[in-house]
Amino acid sequence: MNNNTTFCVVCKTSKINESDNICADCLIQIKDLEESVKKAGYTTWPIIHEELRVSYASVIRKLDYMVKKKILLPPDKNGKYFPAIKTNIKLSDIKVKFGGKNPPKDKKCIELFMKAHQGQIPAYWGMIDIEGIKPFSNYRPETSQAFIDNIHQKLKSGDLPSLYVYPENKLFIMSDDYNLYYIYLYSGYKKLPCFILGEPTGKYISDLTGPIKLPKLEAEVI
Ligand SMILES: [Zn+2]
Repeated sequence: MNNNTTFCVVCKTSKINESDNICADCLIQIKDLEESVKKAGYTTWPIIHEELRVSYASVIRKLDYMVKKKILLPPDKNGKYFPAIKTNIKLSDIKVKFGGKNPPKDKKCIELFMKAHQGQIPAYWGMIDIEGIKPFSNYRPETSQAFIDNIHQKLKSGDLPSLYVYPENKLFIMSDDYNLYYIYLYSGYKKLPCFILGEPTGKYISDLTGPIKLPKLEAEVI
């Protein structure tokens, strides 16, 4: 039963052996992209769309794959993907996390957060499907390289930091840590560890634990 054919993780259409996860065509295209990114210093969806003349969905899958394989870094707020090899990144292109524009204030999150810490509403922990998590705004953080490195280090060691979310209309709203959210998203995680402020409902949640006492607040400076 072990000779199942599966589909290429990038194009989702070519059949491949179970032992591979990418088809030969996609592999060649990704190698080409890798070369052109190195030359140009960065890439974007439109650049790849123009270069490969394939659908946007296909472009996104290729980019996601390259981020997952750590060929590219997750996109910055302008949608630019830089090579993940440090020596190829121009320092002037890296924006520092602090001192940039701040995300819009989510009053509800702040209120629930305070209430949960004071024990006025219950808090839980659980794994939430990424499609069940909705960022509060379109804000894209200016993530520093040091922050990305730090989180990747944690992910590698199996230490997955939790996001704070609250339930709303069968979804979970996230406004607490856009950096972390987008790193998870572009690293291909399907379920994210979350502290839930309030009573969770809906189909997106698993491994629910609680009510729990929320961890003490600690600032982490990177
Ligand atoms: Zn393929």
